[in-house]
Amino acid sequence: MSWQLTQRSIDHVVLERGEVAHSWKTERWRSLRLLTPSWQSRLPGYGYEGADPDGFRTMPETIAFLETYAKVISAPVREHTTVSSVRRTDDGYEVTTDQGTWQCRTVVIATGACNIPMVPALAAALPSEIRTMTALEYKGPEQVEPGGVLVVGASATGTQIAEELQRAGHPVTISVGEHVRVPRTYRGRDIQWWMDKCGVLDDRYDEVDDLVRARHVPSLQLAGSTDRRDVDLNHLSGLGVRHIGRLANVTDGKAQFSGSLRNLCELADLKMNRLLERIDVWAAEQELDGDVEPHHRFDATRLEDSPPLELKLKSGEIRTILWATGYRPDYSWLEMPVLDRKGRLRHEGGVVESPGMYLLGIPFLRRRKSSLIDGAADDTKVLCEHLVRTLDGKAEVHA
Ligand SMILES: Cc1cc2nc3c(=O)[nH]c(=O)nc-3n(C[C@H](O)[C@H](O)[C@H](O)COP(=O)(O)OP(=O)(O)OC[C@H]3O[C@@H](n4cnc5c(N)ncnc54)[C@H](O)[C@@H]3O)c2cc1C
Repeated sequence: MSWQLTQRSIDHVVLERGEVAHSWKTERWRSLRLLTPSWQSRLPGYGYEGADPDGFRTMPETIAFLETYAKVISAPVREHTTVSSVRRTDDGYEVTTDQGTWQCRTVVIATGACNIPMVPALAAALPSEIRTMTALEYKGPEQVEPGGVLVVGASATGTQIAEELQRAGHPVTISVGEHVRVPRTYRGRDIQWWMDKCGVLDDRYDEVDDLVRARHVPSLQLAGSTDRRDVDLNHLSGLGVRHIGRLANVTDGKAQFSGSLRNLCELADLKMNRLLERIDVWAAEQELDGDVEPHHRFDATRLEDSPPLELKLKSGEIRTILWATGYRPDYSWLEMPVLDRKGRLRHEGGVVESPGMYLLGIPFLRRRKSSLIDGAADDTKVLCEHLVRTLDGKAEVHA
């Protein structure tokens, strides 16, 4: 957004509580690589120019990329400046920080979608001998005491951490709720290449059937690795990770799991095949069939015949529970009536229900790719144009 504002000569400042790339420096585990190939981290006015566009950036590389971008575009970043409140005034907003107060006509909320880990309320009933950790706290296997681990959640975060802990010698059980299975590569190309090219990532917020649902679809079961391996449930069971249903209850020292595991896996397989069909249709339309490998389908998710419905938490089998159950944004500093009863910001494609206030960086803000680094270019362009109209007194509700 800073790049867009600079292009239009709009005076602005970027307030950051930590340093540039703070979330990548402090809130990710060490071995993480981006699950999007390097060519796909396109920021406005700045693409990938290295020698490995199909590789997946490590955390130090991701941090360096964002730091360089901030320098290249001369973003007016004020680091170590925490916003503690934003209030509406007669002609704009008052932004209070630990470094002083700002008056401004417009505010762009770009504080991220993953500020607070979502831990289910049933965690309160866990016996005291079970250690717990959120994915936000997890940095590497050495933090986890020897013994069995129950990873709750089987999306990008849960499957990646389950793999790492199993390889480090922990017997891992993964509790599987709704998930989105995709292969890393299909017909010889990266799945992100296909989704980018055939328009899946450009699906618009005002064209999907159920936007609330689309905004809550779990992240893809994907990882960035040098060998481009899948991290789906079949890969994990091949490593010895045990699958169990959705964690439903904790009572009398026992964890109880839903019996819907098989259904959820069948649904994930079905949806993966639907995506592959969309890709195949597009490839045929583009007459790519001679240039890429033939179409094919992947094995269905394999499960043991009767996955357990209960685990005894005092038996010593499970020592640690790792919550990979998703995140939510933190708007506790927003002192304005713009949240719905579930604490979500009320907005129309990023135009918040308060004149001159905008939102960025949340799932399906305007497009399927809005939750990715690559989504910022399109979203900021449209929202910056709206912001300019606001400053000119010509803004309408929709962007
Ligand atoms: C585990 C994980 C893996 C991911 N992998 C990928 C990937 O492979 N590829 C991809 O494209 N995307 C990935 N994403 C999504 C990616 O994080 C987002 O696309 C991107 O970070 C959004 O950038 P942002 O600037 O909107 O939010 P963030 O990166 O979260 O930045 C928000 C910033 O706001 C600051 N802030 C928050 N509150 C305040 C405050 N009160 N005052 C001042 N500053 C504040 C924070 O310090 C932070 O620096 C991943 C996300 C997670 C959680």
